[in-house]
Amino acid sequence: MSTLTAPESLFDAATRRDVVDLGRSFFERRLTFGRTGNLSVRVGDHALLTPTGGSLGALDPTQLSVIDARTGSHLAGPKPSKEAFLHAAVYRARPNAGAVVHTHSTHSVAVSVLRDVDPADVLPPLTAYYVMRVGRLPLLPYHAPGDDALGPAAEEAARTHHALLLSNHGPVVAGADLASAADALEELEETARLHLLLEGRATRPLTPEQSDDLHRRFTSA
Ligand code: ZN
Repeated sequence: MSTLTAPESLFDAATRRDVVDLGRSFFERRLTFGRTGNLSVRVGDHALLTPTGGSLGALDPTQLSVIDARTGSHLAGPKPSKEAFLHAAVYRARPNAGAVVHTHSTHSVAVSVLRDVDPADVLPPLTAYYVMRVGRLPLLPYHAPGDDALGPAAEEAARTHHALLLSNHGPVVAGADLASAADALEELEETARLHLLLEGRATRPLTPEQSDDLHRRFTSA
């Protein structure tokens, strides 16, 4: 006997609660604001994603969207974020990623509009925790919000990086689970803030040898 599982029943109450709690936490700490930002958790072929048009500070656990994790297409629940295709692109590229978080966090966005940065690695390795949680951060070209032409570029970059910075837009970060993805996004935002605080001062980032040593010791999804 086979039974079809409705997509909305694929995500249990605890997973839905985790998404709601992280949304509120991000919103209360101003890592996200207004109706920006989106969070997703993947289980198998499906992802639970925050819906379009709402604030991450006031999510309803019963009103989260279910999408196909490979295509981003809407399967159940309310209409998903128009950035669903970005989550799908990262999940295609990173089979071990269990969560993706995206925000328009102020300092990360500030760095995403700086001229004369290295698009292969936008921020210097200021601290060991930045290298361990984020690593190398590529800058992707500007696309209008919801323009799915960004999908292939994001997928390509995500094969070798779990954190991406979208030009004039914000970070997209994958992790083994929601807590790891959030941890890396917060580390990125605080390092962006440090970078801006230090602008114009002579700094001593970690040396390539120190960074490489950390890359060897620590890996992330
Ligand atoms: Zn966005």
